[in-house]
Amino acid sequence: MALPRIEVNGRRYGATEDTVVVVCVDGSEPAYHERAIQAGHMPFFEKLLANGTSLPATCAMPSFTNPNNLSIATGVPPSVHGICGNYFFDRDTGEEVMMNDPKWLRVPTLFAEYASRGATVAVVTAKDKLRRLLGSGLAGGMCFSAEHADKVNRAEYGIDDVLGLVGMPRPSVYSAELSELVMAAGVAVLRRDRPDLMYLSLTDYVQHKHAPGSAEANAFYAMLDGYCQRLDELGCVLVVTADHGMNAKSGADGAPEVVYLQELLDGWLGAGAARVILPITDPYTVHHGALGSFATVYLSGDAKDVDGVAHRLAEVPGVELALGRDDAAARFELPADRMGELVVIGDRGTALGTTPDRHDLSQLGEPLRSHGGLAEQRVPFLVNRAVRELPQGHELHNYDAYWVATNFVA
Ligand SMILES: [Zn+2]
Repeated sequence: MALPRIEVNGRRYGATEDTVVVVCVDGSEPAYHERAIQAGHMPFFEKLLANGTSLPATCAMPSFTNPNNLSIATGVPPSVHGICGNYFFDRDTGEEVMMNDPKWLRVPTLFAEYASRGATVAVVTAKDKLRRLLGSGLAGGMCFSAEHADKVNRAEYGIDDVLGLVGMPRPSVYSAELSELVMAAGVAVLRRDRPDLMYLSLTDYVQHKHAPGSAEANAFYAMLDGYCQRLDELGCVLVVTADHGMNAKSGADGAPEVVYLQELLDGWLGAGAARVILPITDPYTVHHGALGSFATVYLSGDAKDVDGVAHRLAEVPGVELALGRDDAAARFELPADRMGELVVIGDRGTALGTTPDRHDLSQLGEPLRSHGGLAEQRVPFLVNRAVRELPQGHELHNYDAYWVATNFVA
């Protein structure tokens, strides 16, 4: 038996014979693979659509990388696992805190639970920021990032000489090759070590820069197609999904469409009355300038007319929704204690910023494409096997990937 029957975070996962591989294609708006298939760049996925399964699915909110990778890894939304972005504001210390540390994760991952039951687990991420979170509690498994592929060793990462194994140099952190290295390592590790479970998580470098159907995007998806075909040929249950979608957040002139919330609120309430937190902010901002479509706002004591501010924000062109914390937490399954009084969501074409001087857009290169809102919630959910009917009324999320693979694959 490859994977034993387990229950993790209140969900049941069935026993399976075959290795289960989940690929998280970062920022993979469904139009990317649809357009690439139409143009003949994805022969394996074309066959998968005929013989396997494609299901409509959504990601967890906010539609950001870390919250969704942790949802896929734990099988539950951010309200349960606690990771709701790269940053949150710690009221107790009055500081903005990075959430990359595993101490912020509130539940065990499937990976750690399977490994503790004797299954062999391999987790490969593109960027190192995710590795520590996904490797939380994982004893004895393999867990490494392509970004630090030249630094691995068996004792710490469960593998030696990744670059020798795949025959590739270590790519730049801002490149399509960083994702290719993850896929190449996934194929090589599956072939050599035959782990019981794999998780391969890519980077959205290409998706932030290039629209679906573009030559660059099609080349990326052709690469993905080739590696997925090899994974399939090695014999595994393969689920391909995404952490979130991606949309253009720029006008016809190519300039970013941004609502600068801190500037707006300082004007309405006075400086210092509101603190805008953009949870997309992280050390790797070259391709999005820390502009996404989700923000949370902390209001200080004398500015706490939450409903009044929410109503006023909701009228601002480009703002899709502005909700009080409890409404937002209930509606979008967010951890209320890591949110400000307000949650603000930008529409399909609009990103949210703090103040113009706090966003360096000089390195963008291409018109802004980003994510974080409701318009980026649709994600692919492609399985290389037939999938039995899911329970009546079940709303499928990307974080059902291992649940579907272990319970519903024919
Ligand atoms: Zn992402």
